[in-house]
Amino acid sequence: MTRIISITNQKGGVGKTTTAVNLAACLAALHFRTLLIDLDPQGNATSGVGLDPRELDHSAYHLLCADVPPAEIVRPSGIEHLDIIPANADLAGAEVELVVAMGREGVLRRALADFAPQYDYILIDCPPSLGLLTVNALAASRSVLVPIQAEYYALEGMARLLDTIERIRFNLNPDLRLEGMLVTMHDGRNNLSRQVEDEVRQHFPAQTYETVIPRNVRLSESPSHGQPIIMYDIESRGARSYLALAREFIARHAEDTAQP
Ligand code: ADP
Ligand code: MG
Repeated sequence: MTRIISITNQKGGVGKTTTAVNLAACLAALHFRTLLIDLDPQGNATSGVGLDPRELDHSAYHLLCADVPPAEIVRPSGIEHLDIIPANADLAGAEVELVVAMGREGVLRRALADFAPQYDYILIDCPPSLGLLTVNALAASRSVLVPIQAEYYALEGMARLLDTIERIRFNLNPDLRLEGMLVTMHDGRNNLSRQVEDEVRQHFPAQTYETVIPRNVRLSESPSHGQPIIMYDIESRGARSYLALAREFIARHAEDTAQP
């Protein structure tokens, strides 16, 4: 069974792309057939796995707005078992063009229908908004992973995000669920980080991952080398934390598959 997971938070800079790239790379390293879909016009997930967003023949834009089949867009990454549907600035046009498309919220879901089954995991890196790109990602997904930066106002906007998820579940995708909350950029020496973590765990006791992603310089350096952290510095705390997250993530899925 393919699991499609959107990595979503309408705030920018909270660790969505870092999580999408590094969780995808860790899943691939654990031999799961993984596809990363870059759905942000900034193309950071694309460059994060070593592709140049300026040199794409086809991208997520063509998937959503030009009926190009995913098999003609997908590219291997530098990592075995990890493919990517890349994006670049063209995708900004999709947000506008989709407005007049037939069944505009379900374009990605339909485009992936026949293509998805060859993968175990598909991770979608969403843009920092709740516009049509994110709605398409959520409508195509089975679950949503929400990175939350351990900073002031961490939970600001969360009610709107949860409300959006609820509306998409009701109107478009009854199977959609909350995969989990992930505390990112955590600094253990900082009281505020610990307070935010506590607050997130209080609000979402069952959903918050045990694994917390620390603030780690190696994680912020690795994108400029076009490498996920497990290739850039496997010994770093960042690499260890994303590997731990991948294991926790897989274990949770094993549990929910076992349930009747
Ligand atoms: P988003 O996709 O939500 O906008 P990013 O993943 O691009 O967020 O992260 C924003 C910035 O913070 C990037 O420069 C990234 O390299 C850096 N960053 C993300 N996670 C960490 C971390 N755990 N430690 C240090 N820097 C991080
Ligand atoms: Mg991003």
